[in-house]
Amino acid sequence: MIPTNPDAGEPGPWAPGIWRHQLKTAIRDSVTLCEKLGLPTGGLDDAPVFPVRVPEAWLRRIRHGNPDDPLLRQVLATALERLAIDGFVADAVAETSRFVAPALIQKYDHRALLIASTACPVHCRYCFRREFPYTDHGPAQLDHAIARVVEDTTLSEIILSGGDPLTLTDTALAKLLRRINAIPHLRRIRIHSRWPVAIPERITAELLQSFARSSKPVVLVVHCNHPAELDTHTARAFALLRKTGLTLLNQTVLLRGINDAVTTLAHLSEALFEQGVLPYYLHLLDRVRGTGHFEVEEDRGRALISGLRNQLPGYLVPRLMREIPGEPAKTLIG
Ligand SMILES: *Cc1c(COP(=O)(O)O)cnc(C)c1O
Ligand code: SF4
Repeated sequence: MIPTNPDAGEPGPWAPGIWRHQLKTAIRDSVTLCEKLGLPTGGLDDAPVFPVRVPEAWLRRIRHGNPDDPLLRQVLATALERLAIDGFVADAVAETSRFVAPALIQKYDHRALLIASTACPVHCRYCFRREFPYTDHGPAQLDHAIARVVEDTTLSEIILSGGDPLTLTDTALAKLLRRINAIPHLRRIRIHSRWPVAIPERITAELLQSFARSSKPVVLVVHCNHPAELDTHTARAFALLRKTGLTLLNQTVLLRGINDAVTTLAHLSEALFEQGVLPYYLHLLDRVRGTGHFEVEEDRGRALISGLRNQLPGYLVPRLMREIPGEPAKTLIG
């Protein structure tokens, strides 16, 4: 049981409702975002294919007046997204051919990925699912997807993804976790979520209780790209999550001009560890239409990893990965 009245001096979970308010009041255009930060509004894309979404919880970590702020660069839509670049396509990792049921993607043995929600706490400009066909694949198709997981006894892990699965209400998520827990052949439940970093206020008592009650081990893979994303709020969120007994890992996307420096990545691994999170993957960018300006070359990625190896213990060096469509697993680089 997670206490709803935590010990004095130890901050507990956030009240329900705060995170929904954050989502509802998020900034939805680049011009407003720049105005709030005291930045010029030229060169923006005011009607991007993939809409802007920046909640106040993200905004408060962006430094005022700095157009190169690493958190701002991840969320601000600029005219660069309109550039057509050879090799950058809508479905870069060939997901739409890998549905085994509506909302259920399977590429690798023993693991299937469920599009549990179609909405995210923040819109990352480099997102590989920028143009994902969410209208045909989302929570409305859940029953079919679960039926398929029940049938396929070769599966040992289900990955809740999206969108972001923690956009589901606490009640819906509790129900989903109960249904998954009832499937005998599954050995683990994995959740990929940006919420604990983007809006740490998502961590409510009811959410923690769902994780604590899971009879199958839960692995939560969060998504953090830069040490400036980590603050006292994320530390509190991770500490609460860890108390439920789940395993906390992080994945990062290697992004040009944002985190492509050894000092930044080393600082990120150390800051994550101090907050109880281990680095998992460092992804080379998926070549999705509109994201070419974020790409870091593979050789540069390898050089960054050797730099990290010289500075950090092995367990703080993330694995540099690339997804090559058609391969039986993600590919380890270097
Ligand atoms: C990345 C991915 C996984 C998980 O791969 P791991 O190497 O186990 O982290 C599973 N299914 C799909 C469709 C994926 O894209
Ligand atoms: S949270 Fe994940 S799925 Fe959502 S926009 Fe960001 S990268 Fe894409």
